[in-house]
Amino acid sequence: MKILVTGGAGYVGSHAVRLLTKAGHDVWIFDNLMNGYKAATPAGRLIEGDLLDQNRLAEVFAERQYDAVMHFAALAYVGVSVTDPATYYRNNVVGTLNLLDAMRAADVNKIVFSSTCATYGTPDKSPITEGMKQDPINPYGYTKLVIERALDDYAHAYGLGFAALRYFNASGAAEDGTIGEDHKPETHLIPLILQVALGQRQEITVFGDDYPTPDGTCVRDYIHVDDLATAHLAALERLQPGKGLKLNLGTGAGASVMEVIDACRRETGHTIPHKVAPRRAGDPAELVADASLARKTLDWTPKYVGIEPIVKSAWKWHKSHPNGYGG
Ligand code: UDP
Repeated sequence: MKILVTGGAGYVGSHAVRLLTKAGHDVWIFDNLMNGYKAATPAGRLIEGDLLDQNRLAEVFAERQYDAVMHFAALAYVGVSVTDPATYYRNNVVGTLNLLDAMRAADVNKIVFSSTCATYGTPDKSPITEGMKQDPINPYGYTKLVIERALDDYAHAYGLGFAALRYFNASGAAEDGTIGEDHKPETHLIPLILQVALGQRQEITVFGDDYPTPDGTCVRDYIHVDDLATAHLAALERLQPGKGLKLNLGTGAGASVMEVIDACRRETGHTIPHKVAPRRAGDPAELVADASLARKTLDWTPKYVGIEPIVKSAWKWHKSHPNGYGG
């Protein structure tokens, strides 16, 4: 298939581009390089542009007849979404509606969309199943939920075939260590811990050790970025006109902040000092997926089980790229 991957120069998008290309698809990347890197993309496949530029989008769809779109491009800092919701709603909601308009105009009716477990807000139960209430506690989660709803309505009215994949904690890096996670600023747990091992920061701060979890620190479901990529490919192959898939992508197992730090200590051989600080606003105690629906629907099984292999792949990337794509 000829596939347009928005955000294909970003973290999850770049891993998906690799896999789609390996699977024989004709892959083109649309990215504004705001949070993405040219170095993360295969040569000659990057189309620079912004989803807020409707003329540019029309041009891109006029240039080639795409069979499907994978839509990763979005802003994803929860904290910034609280202080600057206008930018988040504009980019994530208006940008996606522009994309859907351009797709309709060009008769492209298949899309795989990056959604998030943040659409569930603070769940009453764990693990989380797809049927549970979606009640986001920050603008970022709302922007994704709004698009899930739009996709339902577009499927019904226009025959769009879609998958909304609700990621839990995307983590890890390509097995060969050539592409990986590089956020500026970095806010995610695993890269921050590994920066301590690299001598780039003194210690890791643990946000809260008084949660109702076995060791008092937050539990998250860390899912390897290549497992996310394989799920996208499987979802793409199952898209049907007028129908939508909404699936959790997680492993079904959680790891606490302290368990992640300990895994990084073992992998790097570094002591990685930590200090405990107050809870971070908006962090639920536990977010773990019931991923059985995705496993069944997509005939998909995450390859990376447990935090160790995820940390191992992340360390390979960070050790060989201490400044990310910057050098
Ligand atoms: N976390 C932490 N210290 C940090 C960064 C994150 O204790 O410096 C915790 C955070 O509170 C959460 C978990 O690590 O419980 C994962 O956070 P991350 O920001 O990586 O992903 P999120 O769960 O927010 O999507």
